[in-house]
Amino acid sequence: MKKIYLMIGFVFILLTYFLLYVKPLYSKLTWTSVNICHTIQGDAHVISKNDTHFLIDTGTHREAPLYLVPFLKKHHIHTIEAILITHPHFDHYGGVVDILEANITVKKIYMNMPTKEQMHKEWWGGEYKHLITIQKSAKKYHTELLPITQGLKLSFDSHSYIDVLYIYDGIHTPIGKTSINDMSAVTMLVDGKNKFMLTGDLDKDIGKYLADHSKKLEADMLKVPHHGATTLAPHSFFKVVHPKEIIVTAPQALWCSQRCKDIRDFAKKEHYQTYVNGFNGDITVTSYNNKYIITTEKSPKELCKEGQ
Ligand SMILES: [Zn+2]
Repeated sequence: MKKIYLMIGFVFILLTYFLLYVKPLYSKLTWTSVNICHTIQGDAHVISKNDTHFLIDTGTHREAPLYLVPFLKKHHIHTIEAILITHPHFDHYGGVVDILEANITVKKIYMNMPTKEQMHKEWWGGEYKHLITIQKSAKKYHTELLPITQGLKLSFDSHSYIDVLYIYDGIHTPIGKTSINDMSAVTMLVDGKNKFMLTGDLDKDIGKYLADHSKKLEADMLKVPHHGATTLAPHSFFKVVHPKEIIVTAPQALWCSQRCKDIRDFAKKEHYQTYVNGFNGDITVTSYNNKYIITTEKSPKELCKEGQ
């Protein structure tokens, strides 16, 4: 009889240990690259774990109310810990105000403001007055607006977090003045042993500099910079990241165009498993500490006609 009690006690202790310490290791983390590339390119990444949510970029003002806000509502995401805007171009910051106005609480927005001159020089990428509107909306909705700094960590817990590896201001960089795309925050999403890199629209100059100088770029997956279009980070950057899979935030027409031909051919040569929002719809990576699976809304047999 005594033995049975001892056994029950032992099993009870074992179960308590597993529930307290082992179960949290298997809490899943999800990263969805939301398809807001129906008519125009855009980035919107919803990253969630245990009902805590971060967003990296918000797509365009044209598509965010149609696809990103409904995605958040559908998944009952009413509070966002922080939105990180990788760089100040409209296809990345465009949905910020739409989210704030949709009764979704955003605690913090991390975004680096360029100078008026930087914005005016790249008139096609966005307008300085949009950035002022974001500042005003953040104030109205009591959202903290903070700068992005190297080493910034957006954490779920001690082994799941988004780490800002590099960020430059386009003026004081190791290679002098750069484009606004090269102001993109280079971030690593870490979940235990899994590493996923998101790079905004990292351009050829800082892309090359990091490929030549950084030793911490290796990742399982890469969100391709600049929607796969020239003048994105060079092949050498892809080589050091050395991903198995890539996600491209592009509409079908852009991915199959001449502007993406170089990276389409390179991805094929390197045998990267390629996912494109315009073809696959929403792309979700579900990570369990040391393994991950990728699921997509749609599964086309081939992407572009030439055969991806
Ligand atoms: Zn972009």
